[in-house]
Amino acid sequence: ALAAHFQQAIADHEFQLYIQPKVCPNSNAVKGGEVLVRWQHPKYGLLFPGDFIPLFERNGKICELDFYMFEETCKLMQKWLKKDKQIVLSVNLSRAHLLISDLSFIDKFREIKESYHIPDNQIELELTESMMLSRQDIYMVKDMINRIREAGFLCSIDDFGFGYSSLTILKDLNVNTVKLDRQFFTDESEKSWMIVDHLIKLIHKLEMTVVGEGIESNMQVNKLQLAGCNLIQGYFYAKPMPICDFENWSVKQ
Ligand code: C2E
Ligand code: MG
Ligand code: MG
Repeated sequence: ALAAHFQQAIADHEFQLYIQPKVCPNSNAVKGGEVLVRWQHPKYGLLFPGDFIPLFERNGKICELDFYMFEETCKLMQKWLKKDKQIVLSVNLSRAHLLISDLSFIDKFREIKESYHIPDNQIELELTESMMLSRQDIYMVKDMINRIREAGFLCSIDDFGFGYSSLTILKDLNVNTVKLDRQFFTDESEKSWMIVDHLIKLIHKLEMTVVGEGIESNMQVNKLQLAGCNLIQGYFYAKPMPICDFENWSVKQ
């Protein structure tokens, strides 16, 4: 039923942008936000990505959904830029785009960005490390990241440390930011924190910024701040919220 309703849902704008802030732990200022899809379904109510993204990854619709979310993000940014509000937003990119190996999606993203007059390096594309399941994938992703950067986007590795990727992808991939997976922080053992502490130093040495994801407690924030983590994203600061709430929240913050 969800698959059959997809085109209608796009036409009726049932997919909505929720935004979760990325906050600097030193100043508590909002330095960015991640755009996350929610589906306001007329029959089933509010659906979360886990309810429908696996389906759209199987039937190929995910690419269209990503384009939709990206274009809506550009529209929002254009509105903000007119009011002099500058904030970097990131959008997620499915690994399905990789399967179309001519990487033509990058040109399409660039064309949409330019049609809304969004300056370069205002939008970040998040790639999950699960895109790089084999050595072969890494070569493709490496090329893709360089082309994404040339097209005027920032680029990050999402959920780093969650899967089976090795540390060497950090040297192979020319990304701006590494997002450490929440798994690093759920186990609060001393060993875990030692890894996080040194990982942050390593990523900084490689001239990339670090975002800690899924941060829920004050203790986690304090430890990450001490370790020099650049930005923090998690329920401790705020859950993903509708655009209007995000606008109000970031002003108050
Ligand atoms: P992600 O990109 O890693 O996004 C972070 C997920 O962690 C979000 O789940 C967010 O709500 C959740 N999260 C944030 N802070 C906390 C916390 O403190 N504690 C816990 N337990 N969770 C936290 P969400 O919104 O359900 O999204 C799940 C995944 O779906 C995303 O993971 C992303 O991979 C994917 N996704 C979301 N929107 C899109 C989209 O437009 N396109 C594509 N291709 N994937 C998307
Ligand atoms: Mg993400
Ligand atoms: Mg993530």
